[in-house]
Amino acid sequence: MADDQPVAVSSFRDMGVDPSILKALEELGFEEPSPVQAAAVPVLFEGRDLIAQAQTGTGKTAAFAIPMLQYLTPGQSQRPQALVLAPTRELALQVADEIGKIGKYLQVRELALYGGSPIERQIRALRAGVAVVIGTPGRVIDHIERGTLKLDHIRTFVLDEADEMLDMGFIQDIETIMSHLPEDRQTICLSATMPEPIVAITRRYMRSPERVSIARREEVWTPSIEQAYFEIRERDKVDALTRIIDNDAISRAIIFCRTKRGCDELASALQARGYLAEAIHGDLNQVQRNRTLNRFREGEVELLIATDVAARGLDIENVTHVINYDIAQSPESHVHRIGRTGRAGREGTAFTLIHPREFRHLRLIERITKTRIERRSVPTAADVAERAIDLLGERIGEMVTEGGVQEPQFVGMAQRLLEEHEPERLVAALISAVVERRGGATGPATSGRGDRGALRAGADFPDTGAEPGYVRLFINIGSRSGATPADFVRTIAGRADISGRLIGAIDIHDDFTFVEVPQDVGQAVLDAMKHASIQGRSVFTEPARPV
Ligand code: ADP
Ligand code: MG
Repeated sequence: MADDQPVAVSSFRDMGVDPSILKALEELGFEEPSPVQAAAVPVLFEGRDLIAQAQTGTGKTAAFAIPMLQYLTPGQSQRPQALVLAPTRELALQVADEIGKIGKYLQVRELALYGGSPIERQIRALRAGVAVVIGTPGRVIDHIERGTLKLDHIRTFVLDEADEMLDMGFIQDIETIMSHLPEDRQTICLSATMPEPIVAITRRYMRSPERVSIARREEVWTPSIEQAYFEIRERDKVDALTRIIDNDAISRAIIFCRTKRGCDELASALQARGYLAEAIHGDLNQVQRNRTLNRFREGEVELLIATDVAARGLDIENVTHVINYDIAQSPESHVHRIGRTGRAGREGTAFTLIHPREFRHLRLIERITKTRIERRSVPTAADVAERAIDLLGERIGEMVTEGGVQEPQFVGMAQRLLEEHEPERLVAALISAVVERRGGATGPATSGRGDRGALRAGADFPDTGAEPGYVRLFINIGSRSGATPADFVRTIAGRADISGRLIGAIDIHDDFTFVEVPQDVGQAVLDAMKHASIQGRSVFTEPARPV
């Protein structure tokens, strides 16, 4: 399919990126260059000046950082070899952080210089020797004037977020700083937009710069895709996802994660909860990959978890849902992801899970793709239960109209039952029998393969020292690890899919905690708490001994 053809981008390796940088990029989950990186890195490797224009969030930092780091001369100089100007303290820190990560195995020393932090400490750090300085213009000038920042060894100068610098009135400062730089240097300017004053600066201070601009691709919109987003805190993500899946009885979806490791982790978390989920990503060989894809095509795998790269070129029909477990990096990749559903005029649904701080990113996607993505709240356990019954009703209706029930025994029994009972009460009793067999209305909303946290009632407990009707559970984590009552309620309710209100007394000690839950869900809670973690620690849960 034409829209699935990979854009011709080479890999970081093919670009000639140093192996120790490649290793760091892999750890960062950067599987392949973003478009601005694909365009910019080769130009910078040639030593040319560069102006790169691309929207926020397109990876401009790594685009300049990779070549910059690769061309540092180790040990040769205690003085900075690269200077990056950023408009704000936050951006300077962010860039410093990314440079530190990309340069992890080169053991690059980087330092962020910004106002509002003690200058003495910065001076000491500069004296100790740093290779890359990332600073806000004001503080950089301060250090130049004090003679604590020497610019004579600078070979790469970067003007990051140039349009924002302009908006903040830093033009004069930038010119001052540039007047102190050696003539023989590489100059790089990055910006989301290119207003005239920036173009003027680049003309004055750059040597025949190459211009790279990543245009916004106007996508043909597919109106048959319904889109919604859910705002979720990081630690609630898996639970929220399972509710979303159950609520819509999703049985044929691609779930996107940002990194390979994220795919593997999510796949295990879902498998542990009984979902037919598998991850595909670049680490699988062709045989493994095809096997997983075939299993997905045949319905043996219901949830395919993929990175953008792994999903590229997949030709899979009838995907009903695309779920962005991690929001897409760019509007283009969002469009590409959700285009996996709603093929051939069929209706499709795309859900995006976001952290509150990703809200602006979501708005950007909406703006550029010219669509509205409506907000929804994560279904509660009660919603899921109610939907499960609706879906069961739909399924029964379908079976009747499709003439699906042929078994003579069933037909015979139906006739007998109908003679003895009123039809309405009879059907209601059948529904409740089905629900019971599934393990309660809060059980699986879908086909029933797998054991999705179903409530298994009735297990007998010895005396655990609980209130009548309750069992008291022992969990080996307490206040010393920072566990709070809310942690227990959230974890137990989320995992066992019961209402938090059902949970009784919570008695937190230093290193362990007693939690009381109703007797009839006791076993389900014990099952659901296998492999649970609280406050980032895996915990075990067992019936308490009476005191
Ligand atoms: P920009 O400066 O263009 O606004 P950033 O450089 O801050 O964008 O990058 C945005 C995000 O994308 C960061 O979280 C960064 O780590 C991530 N990122 C950058 N390049 C890649 C890549 N090749 N693959 C995956 N993620 C990337
Ligand atoms: Mg940036």
